[in-house]
Amino acid sequence: MLQKNDMIELKIEDMGVDGQGIGKYDGMTFFVKDAVIGDEIRARVTKLKKNYGYARMEEILSPSEARTVPECELYKRCGGCQIQAMDYGKQLEFKQNKVRGNLIRIGGFAPEFVDEVMQPIVGMETPYRYRNKAQFPIGTDKEGNVVAGFYAARSHNIIPVTDCKLGVEENQKILEAVLSYMRENGIKPYDEATGKGLVRHVLIRYGFTTKEIMVCLVINGKKLPAREKLVEKLSGLEGMTSISINQNTKNTNVILGERTECIWGQPYITDYIHLRECGNDAVAAEGAGRKEFALTDTAVGFHISPQSFYQVNPVQTEKLYSLALDYAGLTGKETVWDLYCGIGTISLFLAQKAGKVYGVEVVPQAIEDAKNNAKLNGISNAEFFVGKAEEVLPEFYERESRRSAGSADEVGEVAAAAAKDAGKSDGRSMLHPDVIVVDPPRKGCDEKCLETLLKMHPERIVYVSCDSATLARDLRELCDGGYEVKKVRAVDQFGNTGHVETVCLLSKKAQ
Ligand code: SAH
Repeated sequence: MLQKNDMIELKIEDMGVDGQGIGKYDGMTFFVKDAVIGDEIRARVTKLKKNYGYARMEEILSPSEARTVPECELYKRCGGCQIQAMDYGKQLEFKQNKVRGNLIRIGGFAPEFVDEVMQPIVGMETPYRYRNKAQFPIGTDKEGNVVAGFYAARSHNIIPVTDCKLGVEENQKILEAVLSYMRENGIKPYDEATGKGLVRHVLIRYGFTTKEIMVCLVINGKKLPAREKLVEKLSGLEGMTSISINQNTKNTNVILGERTECIWGQPYITDYIHLRECGNDAVAAEGAGRKEFALTDTAVGFHISPQSFYQVNPVQTEKLYSLALDYAGLTGKETVWDLYCGIGTISLFLAQKAGKVYGVEVVPQAIEDAKNNAKLNGISNAEFFVGKAEEVLPEFYERESRRSAGSADEVGEVAAAAAKDAGKSDGRSMLHPDVIVVDPPRKGCDEKCLETLLKMHPERIVYVSCDSATLARDLRELCDGGYEVKKVRAVDQFGNTGHVETVCLLSKKAQ
């Protein structure tokens, strides 16, 4: 009988959803962190369950052809990049297969059908230096020195590093300035164990198109002593636009607290997202897709404050949004809903090609930002509502269908907009829009939300997903309800990690 701590030899034949290697031994499936598909390894059993287990890689007997030398020497210890040891082309293959596999296994779609509708994954040029946002925890090393770094995998021990290879090079100088300010002024890092100390995290954002920089110190208190010294060090750095402090005095893993105070410059940075051209599928499939995703003149500007949600990979985001817009197939007249709209990024792109766009998002601050961003871009055909998609939409639908049946009893914010909309938009209405776009968090769409989508029966649904397992589940539900999947395309937003985004176009089946 196999026991914990036994050594076994494994051939890694598959990869798990988080990028762990998977091999079989004695009929049991083993998950091995940092093992790459194709590796032959010796591993020590660390955990045993009934028919699967975990093992730690001890030796590579024969390395996989998919192996490459990771750029970051800390990748094994840091929890951030699960598949950095894999050649980037193979990473893309892994992600394409992951989406394909989920559509088949979870969605119940036939493999031949999936191969017909799936377009080739959209990769990055290089999977490094792509993140516009970094959140470095601050702590002390064994000698008691103040350090910035990353948490080791599955722990809260800080590995000192000021230059994460996924982030921009600018991060390093900023962190060094913050650390020297702390040392020179005797400012203590926050200690999770005791709840004492002041500085918890440094949040840095970088506008790729504007080169504007935002720094926000998250502190366990209200005041930052000698803050003018910090400002002195940071404000001279090229591109510095916004310096703020955020108060977080709670004993929590959540990084930001509720209050943010700008102590220098503006309370936000600006960034632009450009629309890109989506070439035809055949060109991309032949690998001659260089013209695909060429920049166009259309751009939307955004004000981003420390607390706003903003996609972290701006270059790939342009491709993702351009695909979503392409799939939406707008001609200028359509009524469109954008559910889970965040700060209105996709909505404002849609608004440029649609008659009217309605955004729904649960975070009130994000909706404030969305409204401001619409103004900033001179966009007047987008309206935004705060609330959960699975509440706002069904409530609106029930109320509005009753109203149009002639029994209006209550008029809420959304219904009032609907009444206005019905009067002017060419007979097309909020109730039965042309297109609905959804971009939910990992858990996917709520049942109630999907049900309402089906009742609203738009011509097309564009589903943007950050988890292909819940995407597959939701697509099955929509297909059983009268839709068919037309196109699916994965976009790699998170190179070197196991995550992948997917865009999907569904259209109403002909009766
Ligand atoms: N489309 C946006 C945001 C996508 S992230 C963009 O590309 O920037 C998903 C968003 O859904 C987040 O902004 C999150 O706050 C929001 N959200 C989460 N649960 C929600 C719910 N039940 N209803 C509406 N919005 C929700």
